[in-house]
Amino acid sequence: MALVQSEGIVLKTYALGETSRIAVIYTREHGLIRLVAKGSRKTPSRFGFALEPLSRARFVYYHKTERDLHLLSKADLLAALGSRLADLRRLSHAEAALELIDRLVWGEEPHAELFDLLAQTLEATVAAPEAALPAITIAFELQVASLLGYRPRLDACAHCGAPVSAERLFSPARGGLVCDRCAAEGGTVKLSADALAGLSLLLSRPVREAGDYVEVRRAGEILGVIEAFLRHHFQRFQGLRSLEMLRALQGPGSEAA
Ligand SMILES: [Zn+2]
Repeated sequence: MALVQSEGIVLKTYALGETSRIAVIYTREHGLIRLVAKGSRKTPSRFGFALEPLSRARFVYYHKTERDLHLLSKADLLAALGSRLADLRRLSHAEAALELIDRLVWGEEPHAELFDLLAQTLEATVAAPEAALPAITIAFELQVASLLGYRPRLDACAHCGAPVSAERLFSPARGGLVCDRCAAEGGTVKLSADALAGLSLLLSRPVREAGDYVEVRRAGEILGVIEAFLRHHFQRFQGLRSLEMLRALQGPGSEAA
C-alpha cells in the first residue's frame, strides 16, 4: 500500500456509512480515482471544502493495488470553485463539465491534457460572460470527445470520405457530416447553416477562447446533435442532467441552455 499524491478536481461524492464519504476525483497524475474519506461527514470535517464537488485540491492517499477504492489521508484545497459559482446558470454549466468527465472517462489512466481542459473549462464558467456559457460547454464537449479519439468529422463524409452533402446532414452514428449517398441509409440530422458554423468554429478553438464567441447561434441545436453523437460512441453517456435541469427551469423553447 503506497502513499500517493495527486492534484485533482472533485466530480462527486456520496455517503458511506454514518460518517464517511466516497469522493470521485479526476486527477492529473492518476486519472479517475475513488477515495474513501473517513469521518468526512462529521462537522467540522477535517477535509473541509477540499471534498466539495468542483473543488480542486492536492490529495494524498493510500493506493491499494488491484482495488479501485483508496483511502484518503490528506487533502489540501487549491481552489474552491463551487463557492465562486453563485448563480444557477454558471453552476449548471460547470456541473455539466464534471458530469461529462464522469460519464466518458473511467480507470486510473492519466490524461494531463484532458485534466487541463477540464480545469480551464471550469475557470471559464466562472469568468466568461454569461451569454458565452453554451459556447464553452459545446467547445468542451467537442474537445473531450476529440481527446478521447472521437472527433466529429466535418470536412468530408465521415463514412466514405466523399464530399459532404449540401444539405448539411450529420450522422451521429457515422461521427460527422455525410455525403448524399451515405445519407440515404438514414439516421441523419439536418443542421441549420448557423449550427454547422458554430460546430466547426468551436471544434477547433481552445475552450478559453470559446468565451469570446458570445454570438454562437443555435446553441441548443448544436448541443442536441453533440449529445446524439456522444450517445452513439460512449455507452455510459445518457445526456447531461445538469443541462436538462437548466432547460426545465427556463421553460419550453429555451434555446441556449
Ligand atoms: Zn459517404
